[in-house]
Amino acid sequence: MAKKAMELGFYISFAGPVTFKKAIELREVAKFVPDEFLLIETDAPYLSPVPMRGKRNEPSYLKHTAWVLADLRGISVTDLARITTLNAMKLFKIGETKETSEIAYRIRDSLYLNVTNRCTNKCGFCVRFRTSYVKGHNLRLEKEPTALQLIKAIKDPKAYKEVVFCGIGEPMLRLDVIKKVSKWIKESGGQVRINSNGHGNLIHGRNVLPELKGLVDRFSISLDA
Ligand code: SF4
Repeated sequence: MAKKAMELGFYISFAGPVTFKKAIELREVAKFVPDEFLLIETDAPYLSPVPMRGKRNEPSYLKHTAWVLADLRGISVTDLARITTLNAMKLFKIGETKETSEIAYRIRDSLYLNVTNRCTNKCGFCVRFRTSYVKGHNLRLEKEPTALQLIKAIKDPKAYKEVVFCGIGEPMLRLDVIKKVSKWIKESGGQVRINSNGHGNLIHGRNVLPELKGLVDRFSISLDA
């Protein structure tokens, strides 16, 4: 039903019942709905979330629903609030959505860097063909950032669990920028990860891994395509 509703352009909104441990199917749906379709609502005065279940519901209890929903989706409640606020603004046409893009954006306790919107893949499921937003952050770049701009945006790499080269594109297309920024992050005591489609060597026509020795702590390679 959720899939059909989304095909028709509807948002999917979750209320108190998603906090009920026995609502197994509903909780599965809550994990699967893409960010750009997600909403959260109170349903007051009915359907109070756990631990207020059985009491008269009120909007202030929405936080309990938000905590459970964030936990199910493996994100922070701040991420969930950003995502659902953006969707509510779009749906109800209230407020101004953020039109300027971000080159450094926080998800959970990691800082992600948006270095390019270009990619050597064209995955059918890729978010960049559907929306400019990832977890409520506008990532549609007007211009690719320089190394200096990225360093300024990071400020303190130690304030995060890790700094991740990611964005809605393939970061290894900007190897020189990765090297410069990573060098500064490592010198500043931070951790570096790269989210890549694995095309680095193909893009540059050589084995680039030795060039990243001491600069990058971890690689995440997406095999989805
Ligand atoms: S590799 Fe990533 S950025 Fe590139 S098209 Fe696929 S999902 Fe999108």
